[in-house]
Amino acid sequence: MSDVTSTVPVRRRPAVFALPLHNRFRGITVREGVLLRGPAGWGEFNPFRDYTDAEAAPWLAAAREASDDGWPEPLRDTVEVNTTVPVVTPERAHAMVAASGCRTAKVKVADPRSSLADDCRRVEAVRDALGPHGAIRVDANAAWDVDDAVAALRELDRAAQGLEYAEQPCPTVDELAAVRRRVAVRIAADESIRRAEDPLRVAVAGAADVAVLKVAPLGGVRRALDVAEACGLPCVVSSAVDSSVGLAAGLALAGALPTAEFACGLGTASLLTADVTSTPLSPVDGRLSVPRTAPEPDLITEHAADDDTTRWWHDRLDRVTALAGG
Ligand SMILES: [Mg+2]
Repeated sequence: MSDVTSTVPVRRRPAVFALPLHNRFRGITVREGVLLRGPAGWGEFNPFRDYTDAEAAPWLAAAREASDDGWPEPLRDTVEVNTTVPVVTPERAHAMVAASGCRTAKVKVADPRSSLADDCRRVEAVRDALGPHGAIRVDANAAWDVDDAVAALRELDRAAQGLEYAEQPCPTVDELAAVRRRVAVRIAADESIRRAEDPLRVAVAGAADVAVLKVAPLGGVRRALDVAEACGLPCVVSSAVDSSVGLAAGLALAGALPTAEFACGLGTASLLTADVTSTPLSPVDGRLSVPRTAPEPDLITEHAADDDTTRWWHDRLDRVTALAGG
């Protein structure tokens, strides 16, 4: 006689996904995370592996907001997004921007593989592709010191025939403030904003004209809306290279912000070779609609992480859940 309890299946654990990237990003080639399902829908818990459990806690709060509470009503149905131009030849940059359908391009600069002259030629090609009414922003990912940033931004501003803004030219808030005092180009803070208290610090220091916000590290859409209001800067919502489930949270924030002055960095679904939905959030004519995205069971199965990875994420989810108070 079998014990009846042995036939009861163990509680199903949340699905862990592993989605390959087209190109290496932040040292990784596969984007991993956990999909949480709750009464309000689906949430994505995907802090990078090098984050501590404490750093991962707001990412869990954001995922739980999506699955358990849902988001505030959006104020707009669609959101403009930028295309991103990596370190490629000017010809390739021109073709990428022309094919994107976006009217705003973010050009990666200050990469070790590229000189300032190369960056300027790439920016000139992007201006040619966009025409005079497009917007060009550059992202230095904190690579310069203050003097190099000032010199480079003057050159790049000329090459662009006017930059929309420069994202994170230097590592620290004090350096951003120093650069901002010396150039006419607007400064955006990205890497300087990773915790909820950071945008206010950036604003108080006069370090930026624009705040780049990501939903997960700020602990959810509602927290991010509070942060945006408190810092008083125009905001650009960006993704952490999420699946379309995570991107939907970014779109919920972008759709609920009081103003939409700048294109958002949410057109990142194409960086992944696959997604957990058959209708990834891909821009049409440079815009994304503000939807809810449900993953599809067969795609969750198809892109399931291997056993070791799945165990690692379940252990992490348990630890961060305990840290957050269950
Ligand atoms: Mg950036």
